[in-house]
Amino acid sequence: NAKKNSFERFNYYRPYMEEETQRRLHMVRRLRADFAARKLEVWYQPQVDLNTGCIIGVESLLRWPQSDGSFISPAEFIPLAEYSGLIVDIGAWVIEEACQQIRRFNERDYNNIRIAVNVSVPQFRMRDFPELIEQQLNNHQVNADRLELEITESIVMEDPDFVADILYRLKQQGIHVAIDDFGVGFSSLSYLQKLPLDRLKIDKTFVHNSSQDSGRIIIETIVDMAHRLGLGIVAEGIEDQQQLEYFKRLKCAEAQGYYFARPMPAEQLMKLLERENGDCVSLSSSAASD
Ligand code: C2E
Ligand code: MG
Ligand code: MG
Ligand code: MG
Repeated sequence: NAKKNSFERFNYYRPYMEEETQRRLHMVRRLRADFAARKLEVWYQPQVDLNTGCIIGVESLLRWPQSDGSFISPAEFIPLAEYSGLIVDIGAWVIEEACQQIRRFNERDYNNIRIAVNVSVPQFRMRDFPELIEQQLNNHQVNADRLELEITESIVMEDPDFVADILYRLKQQGIHVAIDDFGVGFSSLSYLQKLPLDRLKIDKTFVHNSSQDSGRIIIETIVDMAHRLGLGIVAEGIEDQQQLEYFKRLKCAEAQGYYFARPMPAEQLMKLLERENGDCVSLSSSAASD
């Protein structure tokens, strides 16, 4: 049984690992049950055009609420969902939710807001992944160019030819593709020329180093490279005015971060958009996090 096998990777057959393994297995069981009981939530974090201040998109981010009101971090449960294979079903559901949310945008005439969805390696490895997405878009009558997939360098390095094939099929439909956490993956840069990409999301660890010379050298090299390759660039994890001004000076087009807004439930996002009232809503820092 494939699921069981993938779990033995945690084991290494060493006794001291046993407790940790049991903890993870228990968490996977709870995740599976809570997903089946529809207890997972998709939250959204705005992405802002730095020239206009408008919200041009949102990133969908999974949330796993606990009975005590806390949340288990995706950083903790996504890897477990990946190892267990659960991410395939959960990921398909997230795309489903995104399609429904785009419909809600359309009903209010927010016709330019895109939704970015994170995609994991096991989803990508599925046969007919592009067709599955096409079908979901069709079912909800959502235009493909409203959807962006965020993939990591680890996906690209898995099997570059296979990934190129999948990306071209997605691209053909009109779906956007972004590289997430760019710069932390130790991957070769040559794929940037070969793959049909739209944007690079510069990892927040670099953004948080933007007050230091060493951090700036890396950021400015990445931004320059993206500009020359004709790729859009999103600065991830903008937390203060200083970082914002810095990325504006670099002519970095788009940004996302707590400074503008934290991830929020769909209803709250709709209220935020309504408050700003219009197709291209402007997000001032006063509208920021709560
Ligand atoms: P990511 O895709 O890089 O998402 C951005 C993360 O940065 C989110 O963490 C977001 O809440 C956080 N963030 C945004 N702005 C700021 C900021 O200004 N400062 C700081 N410190 N953090 C900021 P989150 O929601 O905890 O998600 C963690 C990771 O879990 C995501 O990183 C993504 O890799 C994964 N993930 C979340 N949802 C999904 C999903 O639906 N599918 C898959 N495959 N992975 C997901
Ligand atoms: Mg992401
Ligand atoms: Mg990520
Ligand atoms: Mg990221």
